[in-house]
Amino acid sequence: MADNTLSSTEAIQVHDLHKSFGTHHVLKGVSLTAHEGDVVAIIGGSGSGKSTMLRCINFLETPSSGVISIAGEAVAMRPDGSPADRRQLERIRQSLGMVFQSFNLWTHRTVLENLIEVPVHVMKCPRDVAIERARKLLARVGLAEKEGAYPAFMSGGQQQRAAIARALCMEPKAMLFDEPTSALDPELVGEVLQVIKGLADEGRTMILVTHEMKFAREVATHVIYLHNGLIEEQGPPDQLFGAPKSDRLKQFLKSVA
Ligand code: ADP
Ligand code: MG
Repeated sequence: MADNTLSSTEAIQVHDLHKSFGTHHVLKGVSLTAHEGDVVAIIGGSGSGKSTMLRCINFLETPSSGVISIAGEAVAMRPDGSPADRRQLERIRQSLGMVFQSFNLWTHRTVLENLIEVPVHVMKCPRDVAIERARKLLARVGLAEKEGAYPAFMSGGQQQRAAIARALCMEPKAMLFDEPTSALDPELVGEVLQVIKGLADEGRTMILVTHEMKFAREVATHVIYLHNGLIEEQGPPDQLFGAPKSDRLKQFLKSVA
């Protein structure tokens, strides 16, 4: 494969990422590449640094050092890791749709208002265009009937699907999911996973932190096992789940089975 083909398809690249909180060295040199259409699943025990890693990718946390590139463009960083170019950062943030564990919808706005807020007021998209796109995406996540609803009157699964649609409204280059189903009642997990699976099937680039191992095995193209701020093992899902090499990973998989 020609080199230019390879680099043009790198949607997200993280190189030697370190992050400390005070003296607590949380990420100790983590690298990953997600090519276009890849679904990278990040698994690991509580406190291993999964959320911190995801949050560093869109600079919700300031990395201590390392390089983050989105679609081949490295985010300009000062020596202390803080972003050097606010405009570039805003542009890059808007190209990454983030979905959190807690649904983070604006509670005093209807679902439709939640979806069009950033496109209209930040990205200056014409209101009617934003509404049309929002309605399509609501239909896509099975919430066509809910555009006028307030989040408090919806189930957790519906709220999370609305949050996914809201992220998609920004037409992101890639999606970042941080344990999107871990706050849900068990009976609501499936409907959210189904939406995420649909996005994977249509070739969306995603990084997904999850404790749903079966789901990770099914949708991921690549799995990373994080332990103590380092990648302990990584590989294709069948290898990582079916034939883990590291004792720590074996232990971990047993503990979550
Ligand atoms: P995970 O998502 O894998 O459970 P996190 O990335 O949330 O792990 O946290 C990794 C470590 O970093 C934990 O020890 C956590 O306490 C610490 N940490 C995370 N965020 C902060 C913060 N804002 N300030 C201080 N410590 C933090
Ligand atoms: Mg976390």
